[in-house]
Amino acid sequence: MPLIINDEYPEKLFREDGKRLDGRDLNELRPIKMEVGVIKNADGSAYMEWGNNKIFAAVYGPRDVHPHHLAKPDRGILRVFYRMATFSVFDRKRPAPGRREKEISMIVADCLEPILFLELYPDTSFEVFIDVMDADGGTRCASTTVAALALADAGIPMKSLVSALAVGKIDGKKVVDLSGIEDKAGEADLPIAITWYNEEISLLQFDGDMDLDDLTEFLDLAKESLAKIHQIQLDSLKSKYVTLKREEGEN
Ligand code: UDP
Repeated sequence: MPLIINDEYPEKLFREDGKRLDGRDLNELRPIKMEVGVIKNADGSAYMEWGNNKIFAAVYGPRDVHPHHLAKPDRGILRVFYRMATFSVFDRKRPAPGRREKEISMIVADCLEPILFLELYPDTSFEVFIDVMDADGGTRCASTTVAALALADAGIPMKSLVSALAVGKIDGKKVVDLSGIEDKAGEADLPIAITWYNEEISLLQFDGDMDLDDLTEFLDLAKESLAKIHQIQLDSLKSKYVTLKREEGEN
């Protein structure tokens, strides 16, 4: 069943029992699954299901820069291509990449750059391809999170992972991890990313209606959930190596 049909939004975003429409509490994440090493033809890859979002990320690099005029003699370059499949949303997304996809590609690149040692790779590129198969709110955050995993799976030296999450306000209440309907019908949406090696915020966007005083509360609210997401990332990386070790033992 489609998740968001045109502009048909419910009047209330909370049920009678105080839970959100999908049954969650205010500070509850949607179910998240991550797996690394899912694309055999890429140097590194990862797949994620985050609520109804389904997203692949694949990495190539370090390798020669194409087109070569983009190469930098003193450092490597990171290129990110975020795309939503035409069938990923109800109203058939136009196949050509639009302004939103270019913006999100840039945002994800800004979040990933600080965790890489690009200065060690002159004349080289790292390319990250992100394909959203099914979208239901928060895809820029999910994409950042899964792309960091794909880079780690490629064995690229990194300072740490980066994790991202949207917090926001719906029907006057602060919540974590907005679904598509909450994103569209709520009052505020605040995507946040954190780089773990220095615990700095590498993404902070804002869409909607909010007092500046709310910002600290939003950041506090995001912290606990970001730590949970980080743990799921680490577990998915570990589980690849546990599986490989087990297979090695069986051979
Ligand atoms: N969306 C859509 N059609 C589009 C773009 C987005 O239906 O062309 C939906 C999709 O579910 C997406 C949500 O709107 O996840 C919120 O989009 P937004 O631009 O806020 O980015 P996101 O929350 O995915 O990072």
